[in-house]
Amino acid sequence: MKKIWLSPPHLSGNELQKIQQVFQENWVAPVGPQISEFEAKISSCLESKDHHVVALNSGTSALHLALKLFNIGKDDVVICQSLSFAASVNPVLYEGACPIFVDSEKETYNLSPYFLEEAIKSQIKKGKKPKAIIVVHIYGMPYKVDEIHRISAEYEIPIIEDAAEALGSRYKNRPCGSFGDLAVFSFNGNKIITTSAGGALVCQDQIKKNKAIFWATQSKENEDFYLHKEIGYNYRMSNVLAAIGLSQIDVLEERVQKKREIQQFYASFLNDIEGCGIFNEFSSEYKSNHWLSILEIDPEKAQISPLELMNKLAERTIESRRIWKPLHTQPIFAEFDFYGNGVAEEIFENGLCLPSGTAMTTTELDFIKTEILNILKHG
Ligand SMILES: *Cc1c(COP(=O)(O)O)cnc(C)c1O
Repeated sequence: MKKIWLSPPHLSGNELQKIQQVFQENWVAPVGPQISEFEAKISSCLESKDHHVVALNSGTSALHLALKLFNIGKDDVVICQSLSFAASVNPVLYEGACPIFVDSEKETYNLSPYFLEEAIKSQIKKGKKPKAIIVVHIYGMPYKVDEIHRISAEYEIPIIEDAAEALGSRYKNRPCGSFGDLAVFSFNGNKIITTSAGGALVCQDQIKKNKAIFWATQSKENEDFYLHKEIGYNYRMSNVLAAIGLSQIDVLEERVQKKREIQQFYASFLNDIEGCGIFNEFSSEYKSNHWLSILEIDPEKAQISPLELMNKLAERTIESRRIWKPLHTQPIFAEFDFYGNGVAEEIFENGLCLPSGTAMTTTELDFIKTEILNILKHG
């Protein structure tokens, strides 16, 4: 059996044709018609004309520009979801700002509304009112949108919606990526659709979009010579990669369908096992793209830890991964405040991400099932 990866790229088959067109027309640059077309397609996924999308070279650069659009700078406080990938928060450090970490709730694994409000109140008391909230739809599971946005509105703190893992997910039948004052997608190789590397920033107005493009293309002033009044970045998406994105976005719905089938497949044999369960939507208002399927293990009842299972699967050429290690426990973020009561750490201790590649065959899925059941039953 060939190695089974956690979430490898899955091509639609039309990528080379689209790239060929780009080569023929010589738009081999970070500018070209495919970029605008890709932006329009992402925007149409968001199902409203009020979303202005900027294609960038990564989700991380999209987060960085989002912080800049909210004018976040040195020592400003930004509230961050602890249970996430470090890329959600690194841009806060790029700007010399101060991340404050907030725990998750168990139902969605995302930002706890209770501790979010505690954090805001406590920071206001210290005279450091937070300037933004970075909230994540982790593993594609929508966060508690209504509750989080009610708090954001009450305290007038804007939301940066990190939808890097959640393209195609929905909350109350509205698409993820459409809720935040600004939102971010990633098209890295491991995400539900890919441009190899890439990302997008979703703005609510054309002025913000124009400003983001200005910064992303080296902050060149509109002059007949190179004039720079602000720091610039080289963050624009390559037009070649936008062409890949165009053929990927066409199969997004299929990919979401398949990811959801994979999650159901795991649930069908793991939910019956003592101490095991598959992470699922807790209410029908939530529709996750199930970017990664998560096995929740009670190590005592199942008599195996996530780490032991991961190592045993690796011996059988099956890749699985631990949950994101909560960011407030990472050495790079250790000095910053945290509000919570251990939920993110518990999720980290008891969860394992299972292979979720949408190109997996039934033979591969059956192989994984047999091996997981063997390990759980016989060690
Ligand atoms: C992948 C990811 C990012 C970063 O996106 P890149 O395109 O890899 O820079 C940010 N946040 C989350 C939650 C992610 O999973």
